[in-house]
Amino acid sequence: MGKDYYKILGVDKSAGADDIKKAFRKKAHEFHPDKAGGDEAKFKEANEAYQVLSDPKKRAQYDQYGSTFEHAQSRGGFSGFGDFSNGFNVDAEDLGDIFGGIGDIFGFGGGRQGRQRGGNDIQTVLTIDFAEAVTGADKEISLRKKVKCSHCHGNAAEPGTKIETCKVCSGSGRVTRVQRTILGNMQVQTACTACGGEGKTYAQKCRRCSGTGVVFETVNLRVRIPAGIDDGESIRLSGEGEAGEKGAGAGDLYLRIRVRPDKRFERADSDIRSGATVSFTQAALGDKIDVETVEGPVELKIPAGTQSGTVFKLRGKGMTRLRGSGKGDHYVEVTVDIPKSLTKKQKELLKEMGL
Ligand SMILES: [Zn+2]
Ligand SMILES: [Zn+2]
Repeated sequence: MGKDYYKILGVDKSAGADDIKKAFRKKAHEFHPDKAGGDEAKFKEANEAYQVLSDPKKRAQYDQYGSTFEHAQSRGGFSGFGDFSNGFNVDAEDLGDIFGGIGDIFGFGGGRQGRQRGGNDIQTVLTIDFAEAVTGADKEISLRKKVKCSHCHGNAAEPGTKIETCKVCSGSGRVTRVQRTILGNMQVQTACTACGGEGKTYAQKCRRCSGTGVVFETVNLRVRIPAGIDDGESIRLSGEGEAGEKGAGAGDLYLRIRVRPDKRFERADSDIRSGATVSFTQAALGDKIDVETVEGPVELKIPAGTQSGTVFKLRGKGMTRLRGSGKGDHYVEVTVDIPKSLTKKQKELLKEMGL
């Protein structure tokens, strides 16, 4: 069985990034091993859950593969999962300043300065109607994210000013020093301090983005929701995540879909279940009834002698299969409505028939 990361952090499946971070901080605070009453195993477990749920890509995979997640992982089916058993892999930034020096405890060294990173993956939730899950839909979403600065087109320099190759490191971003140690002279490579490891120097940084190449903006996106999508599934929109700094590539956007339930239908994968009530006479003599399916009413033949609880299958009247082809089936469970009160004449007739 896979672990229930949502349960471990005590959050709902629809929890947003902020809720997850908040829940993790609370758990980390509660179980921190350096605290009286701390619990190292639980702390590790909370951290493991957080590593997955805070990363939109890992969370989407976890949601999709559910309890088979660990299995798939051990087969090497996923890339990008950290080695959870390998001690603490806490990101000090995620913990905030609750524990002053947690970074030191776990041996975080150095900063991120100088590394040119691609943009972050981001996640957002979109709720759609059941009918939209049936047919698919074009939706417009609005989200605030880091986008490439339009003033400098992401290159971080004020337009018209010069970008030059760093003279100190000749553009490599790294400098080699020779350090004398008791073992002899050692070559040590460090990030170039003159250019911050970037290899470039700017005559004037872009005024709009302060030389980062990115700005926060509210962006509208049109998204095609495929027919058959189920509650809790995610759609990956490649390159629609946050723009990377100084022109680096953008991350991906994971759109988590919530589907509003429809009281008439119960869904299990691509199959639909519903109920229908027929009269005692219809069940005994047979009849045709209209059954509401996701694509409208369909005629269902009730054979004579149908018992209460009988399930009929309407082949291919379920949801579109998101993976694979065709559609699921619609199952109708029939309930026979036995009359609660009968007239004297009806009773006599039934007795006469021996029913
Ligand atoms: Zn700019
Ligand atoms: Zn340099």
